[in-house]
Amino acid sequence: MTTLANRIQYLAESETLAMSRKSRELKAEGHDVINLSLGEPDFNTPDYIKDAAKEGIDQNYSFYSPVAGFEDLRKAICAKLKRDNNLDYDCNQIVVSTGAKQSIANVMLSLINPGDEVLVPAPYWVSYKEIIKVAEGKAVFINASIQNNFKITPQQLEAAITPKTKLLIYSSPCNPTGSVYTRDELKGIAEMLVKYPEITIVADEIYEHINFVGKHQSICQFDFIKDRVALVNGVSKGYAMTGWRIGFIAAPLAIAKACDKLQGQFTSGASSIAQRAALKAFITEPSSTPDLKIMQQAFLERRDLMLKLLAEIPGMKLNHPDGAFYIFPDIAYYFGKTNGQITINNDNEQCMYLLNKVFVALVPGDAFGDPNCIRFSYATSLDKLTESARRIKEALGDLR
Ligand code: PMP
Ligand code: GLU
Repeated sequence: MTTLANRIQYLAESETLAMSRKSRELKAEGHDVINLSLGEPDFNTPDYIKDAAKEGIDQNYSFYSPVAGFEDLRKAICAKLKRDNNLDYDCNQIVVSTGAKQSIANVMLSLINPGDEVLVPAPYWVSYKEIIKVAEGKAVFINASIQNNFKITPQQLEAAITPKTKLLIYSSPCNPTGSVYTRDELKGIAEMLVKYPEITIVADEIYEHINFVGKHQSICQFDFIKDRVALVNGVSKGYAMTGWRIGFIAAPLAIAKACDKLQGQFTSGASSIAQRAALKAFITEPSSTPDLKIMQQAFLERRDLMLKLLAEIPGMKLNHPDGAFYIFPDIAYYFGKTNGQITINNDNEQCMYLLNKVFVALVPGDAFGDPNCIRFSYATSLDKLTESARRIKEALGDLR
């Protein structure tokens, strides 16, 4: 009989993808499911980007690309980093991958030895924990509280550092909380880390363009830390291109080379056609097209509506997201309550109750390191959001 490797036996299924799968199954059975579980924009990819992909096909971009991505794409990413973030990179510091997820996996697998510790501010994005596991590292979680709008302080971070600490990984804007670190907050963290030159930082900036508090801030803007940061970004969220699977890192040369080597053995270059589309996305100045603005405006409107609707549900403690498209309320008020048949003991049971009772799919906070919370992805229409809040209020109203 086939025995699977320990690595895969210990690996958890992605809970975001699992909840989406469950919601698709219920939909296939004919139920009217509102899926607020998966974190992906509901918009179509802008036409000017789709046209570039079609041209790429006609121009026979059908061969292997260089492992790190076409040179014109890497140059366009450097130009984007200069234009949007005022950051200087050389083309050979860029590695394009099959989504930001692969970029993160490349960096982790390139840097972590068994037993190395990785600092992970919690709540964190689901896959960080599991990728660290595959790399045989040890995740060290640092709990940020809802009172501090789910942001950690340099002091909290420093207290978790040990001689084994190798990496720090965080996202800002953050999945699952929507929290956005300010320039000063990032500076405080960077200044503290100066004392620990052996720690590399993975800055996940995939939600750069979904930020309601002004200009995106990258920790790489601080020259005294930039040569220790692997910046991760891509086209999935801001350009509504989740299925195209293009992400990248901008990193110190040694890390870029390591990722290139690893990717060269695992997957080779990312899809050539998707790279042509990403090139168009990056060379287009965001303010020169209405598409990004329209999506950003829609996300803001949806956030405001969802916050207003959730505030009307008794017992939900809300955080205030400044970016991404998630709200991460504390719902512990409902733990121990029952409708006479079902008792809610934790976030998982709460999610299953809402899915099975009123067909609203959410993700338990446990998956992101905070079991008192649940994640709402509000990347859907205002009508669906309004209806989902009505259903949730009704279902929770039955609990005593
Ligand atoms: N980082 C964060 C914080 C995310 O939410 C996601 C989910 N899409 C990713 C990385 C992975 O992005 P991609 O789809 O480009 O692999
Ligand atoms: N990142 C998205 C989410 O958190 C997509 C799902 C995934 O890649 O895990 O829902």
